[in-house]
Amino acid sequence: MKRDPRFDVLFEPVKIGPVTAPNRFFQVPHCNGMGHQYPSSMAEMRGVKAEGGWGVVNTEECEISHTSELSGAIESRLWDDDDIPVLRKMVDKIHAHGGLAGIEPAHLGAGAANNYSREVPMGPAARPIDLLEPVHARRMDKSDIKAFRKMHVDAAVRSKKAGFDIVYVYAGHDMTTLMHFLQSDRNDRTDEYGGSLENRVRLLREVIEDTKEAIGDTCAVAVRLAVDEMRGKSGISSDGEGREIVEMLAELPDLWDVNVSGWENDSATSRFSDEGFQTDYIRFVKQVTTKPVVGVGRFTSPDAMVSLIKNGVLDLIGAARPSIADPFLPKKIDEGRVEDIRECIGCNICVTGDFLSHPMRCTQNPTMGEEWRRGWHPERIAPKSADESVLIVGGGPSGLEAARALGQRGYYVTLAERSDTLGGRVHIESQLPGLNQWRRVADYRTYQISQMANVATYLNSSLSADQVLEFEADHIVLATGSAWDTTGIGRNNRRAITGFNSDTVMSVDAICAGATPVGPVVIFDDDYYYMAGVLAEKLRNEGHEVTYVTPAADVSHWTHNTMEQTRIQARLMEIGVRIIPLHNLATIHADSVDLACMYTDRIQRIQCGTLIPVAMRNPRQTLFAELQGRAKSVTLIGDCNAPGTIAAAVYAGHRFARELGEEAVEGVPFRRELPALSLD
Ligand code: ADP
Ligand code: SF4
Repeated sequence: MKRDPRFDVLFEPVKIGPVTAPNRFFQVPHCNGMGHQYPSSMAEMRGVKAEGGWGVVNTEECEISHTSELSGAIESRLWDDDDIPVLRKMVDKIHAHGGLAGIEPAHLGAGAANNYSREVPMGPAARPIDLLEPVHARRMDKSDIKAFRKMHVDAAVRSKKAGFDIVYVYAGHDMTTLMHFLQSDRNDRTDEYGGSLENRVRLLREVIEDTKEAIGDTCAVAVRLAVDEMRGKSGISSDGEGREIVEMLAELPDLWDVNVSGWENDSATSRFSDEGFQTDYIRFVKQVTTKPVVGVGRFTSPDAMVSLIKNGVLDLIGAARPSIADPFLPKKIDEGRVEDIRECIGCNICVTGDFLSHPMRCTQNPTMGEEWRRGWHPERIAPKSADESVLIVGGGPSGLEAARALGQRGYYVTLAERSDTLGGRVHIESQLPGLNQWRRVADYRTYQISQMANVATYLNSSLSADQVLEFEADHIVLATGSAWDTTGIGRNNRRAITGFNSDTVMSVDAICAGATPVGPVVIFDDDYYYMAGVLAEKLRNEGHEVTYVTPAADVSHWTHNTMEQTRIQARLMEIGVRIIPLHNLATIHADSVDLACMYTDRIQRIQCGTLIPVAMRNPRQTLFAELQGRAKSVTLIGDCNAPGTIAAAVYAGHRFARELGEEAVEGVPFRRELPALSLD
């Protein structure tokens, strides 16, 4: 198919200083939990993006010195020449597909504890570092500033040696020394690097100039700047110092990459932000510079991209998450296959890899992070190994992905779903407050299988074991999901709570299906992800009196890893949800519940008309049990195997499809990246 001419503008080359981007699709720097520890995985992942049409593909933040390192987190490194080959591998993968490779050298200063190198962190002022660790940064003196500038020059020269086309100067996300010097509340210096904005900008200006001088003849120099910290005039703001900084340096860099700060604002989830949420903060930039401008906003709609270009907001469409969810997004637009785009749902499961120090994963794209170690490609899959049929029971994320990928392999697939809609938990959960974009997990797959002649879908089909066997399918896949438990058993309670079988208790599933609670509602969160918090929001918005109880110290605790916790807690507080942290559920009475303090066991009794335990889910395995010994190939996938995230369910469906008919691998089923062992 041919590209819609409306989108031609997206495929125009853009000159960036001495280099030219082949189109306007720009993968901005993003962390991935692979970096220096899993460099081949990282290189392959970036190469796949270039293959998918991203004209520019960048690294994540790349530590430029052992004196500023984030050990624990897995970023790229360019500490000395030894790191060059690692990054060259990534560059070569990108160049092989005609893309430009960019690097984001970073000095984290007061944002890093240096736990590996044990160097004392340094920053503009003598202050505690940002991490909650007993570490202070020391104030940089003139010799430190000289050394700091040299670190950037060395990193730029090494970047050039590695073959990079674009070298960043990074003053963003509230995370780097260059940004810390800009911030009036971090920089209390009285020398020429502190005080007036002009003085605070001095170091950034010098580093841009140094970098240009060092490598600017062949490499473009980009500046990544946080133009708004989203804290009004007390921080850098797009109608205050953010704008003034861009005005001061307007023509100095070859490219402006502008966004909001910190990272939790820049990568806000869809629960709290819409596509294009940064546009109002960054639109001024093109008015004050003639240099190309790139910005982000979880863009997946080509129409929105075109209007950003035509309205003079951006020259390049920046993307981190949309490029993770669909590395082939540009190619699909180019080939007139817009409806095939696998749109990011804005859940930030990708971000958790950085916080938890493991290779990134993605809810929508099960191949993310698996490109090198398993050889999984986001668009290609091996053809079927035999002329066989597969019956999949359950049309949730795991069943849908299995059907899609098996269909792509050429198997004859029947998908039976007992409800009248595909999507399973995604269909249900996407109706909860703020989660409506999660629907895309089902929409993408439903559309894909609707285009496949070898995949038949049956709705309103609750299959019994006998009916399953009547299909005489070569393989039976059960993707029947899970049901929320009501006993209170979970992480903190190993036995059912006394009173769990009373009328007071209502399940999460019942609430999601529209049941109305009576009296004051108590939600007990021993799950720690989004569900309890989102139910509290829903029920409070519907006018119920809601108390949220959790053994953790704060609301929806695991969402620290998706960078939403603060927002979720603030929202619940603002709408009037009563929050009782650090308490376990002890006993359920007719009109009250007893809560036990996590530290003292002291009991407090609170009114409760309806108790909703959000603690664990039970896999639905009845069908599996009934089929035992009656069918030769039956496999449980997704939540009916072990309840988990939607990302895990999609992955399970994909993995089953990849592995069907393939020889089982003994031992570790993927390639590993081991450190080279010293011979002495
Ligand atoms: P997962 O996340 O593993 O995909 P879900 O709970 O989202 O699991 O989806 C499971 C789906 O399976 C639900 O849509 C449910 O209606 C369906 N289902 C469960 N049991 C049966 C059955 N016996 N026959 C057909 N569909 C079923
Ligand atoms: Fe988007 Fe979620 Fe995938 Fe991240 S994990 S890229 S937010 S769909």
